[in-house]
Amino acid sequence: MSDAADVLVLGGGPAGCAAALRACALGLSVQIIERRATRGGRACNGWIGPAGAGLCESLGLDPARIGAERFAGLRLHTWDIRRHVDVSEPDIWGWVVDRTAFDDALFQAARQAGAVGLAGVAAEQVTLGESLVRLRLGDGREVVGRTLLLADGLHSYAAGAANLTPAGRAPRVPQCLYAEFEVPASAAGLEIVIGSNRAGLIATVTRKGTRARLSLLTRGAQAELRAAFQPLLAAARQAGLLPPGPTPEIQAHPSPAGLALDLDTHVGKRCLLLGDAGGFVSAFSNEGIYPAMMSGVLAADVVARALKAPVPQDELASFGVEWRTRLADYLRMPNTDLSLLVPLVFNNPQMCLRVARAFLHGQAF
Ligand SMILES: Cc1cc2nc3c(=O)[nH]c(=O)nc-3n(C[C@H](O)[C@H](O)[C@H](O)COP(=O)(O)OP(=O)(O)OC[C@H]3O[C@@H](n4cnc5c(N)ncnc54)[C@H](O)[C@@H]3O)c2cc1C
Repeated sequence: MSDAADVLVLGGGPAGCAAALRACALGLSVQIIERRATRGGRACNGWIGPAGAGLCESLGLDPARIGAERFAGLRLHTWDIRRHVDVSEPDIWGWVVDRTAFDDALFQAARQAGAVGLAGVAAEQVTLGESLVRLRLGDGREVVGRTLLLADGLHSYAAGAANLTPAGRAPRVPQCLYAEFEVPASAAGLEIVIGSNRAGLIATVTRKGTRARLSLLTRGAQAELRAAFQPLLAAARQAGLLPPGPTPEIQAHPSPAGLALDLDTHVGKRCLLLGDAGGFVSAFSNEGIYPAMMSGVLAADVVARALKAPVPQDELASFGVEWRTRLADYLRMPNTDLSLLVPLVFNNPQMCLRVARAFLHGQAF
């Protein structure tokens, strides 16, 4: 029993690392299992809104040390990129990060906070017992804990093993397409392109240094998304939003935008489902880093209480109420039909501000 960690965290992405940081701060013993030895690969921009930046700081993450660059204000574009409006209220800001560096910094921070981080090894078998959970790792080792946080991403293998349904198995998972561009060096910035049709298309351009990323999210079919991407890219280039050049590699990935709201439960036997695995991504903006991290923090709080409770499982069940209280509005689509509002947005500064706040703060219109 003494070898068992208070919390095993499966997955060292934003959700798992935030959970580990919070659990360490609460005095719990933590072990993170992350299958990647190193993030490596191509650098990629990611944006974080004010809530996420504030959460990172409250977890002790220094923006300078994690390579975060602040942006101030938002630019909203029409779908044809012929018109734009700038929104520059003091609450409209955030960070742009290099995802590789950011995720690495989170993992290191969790280790420095006291978590035992096992990197480069995957969990291959999950056993949930009455009082202990066990993970069999790819190298034959077994780790044991009193609780388990499942933060192993959209297609969470472990969720299935825990009789939970990960967001990646939802009947319809929204799709995101993105491409990266080399651009002349510029300050960090976030621009939004708003589609006016019923598919609820929304695109973002995220800039930092000499890189820009164009991403496009829809709840429609991937064919529809692909059909929209090329004209959008052409319009962005014509308007000077992105540089001319050969067509870059266009990558596709599913995004569990808003799916936390559709899952039956995030609570299994001695375990909780977090981050992308639990569908914690904002439906409107496709922001996933902050909801993932917040779900991790809330889960760590619940686990700390559960470990002191006479019946831990009863306390773990409170995770559903906790995340719905703190995150459900943030994840929900704005309570309006955006297609009706779009014609107004570009003629009305108040409407622009509302769209910006819905996007960056998860506020209702
Ligand atoms: C291309 C792209 C761009 C994005 N841009 C943004 C953005 O700009 N802003 C934003 O807020 N969100 C963005 N998102 C969404 C955001 O990245 C995710 O919502 C967020 O990373 C979710 O964090 P997570 O920790 O839940 O999952 P992940 O980041 O997927 O982390 C899961 C971790 O679990 C590990 N793992 C999986 N299986 C196992 C196993 N069996 N054993 C051990 N480890 C395992 C994986 O290696 C991984 O490190 C983007 C997503 C993508 C794909």
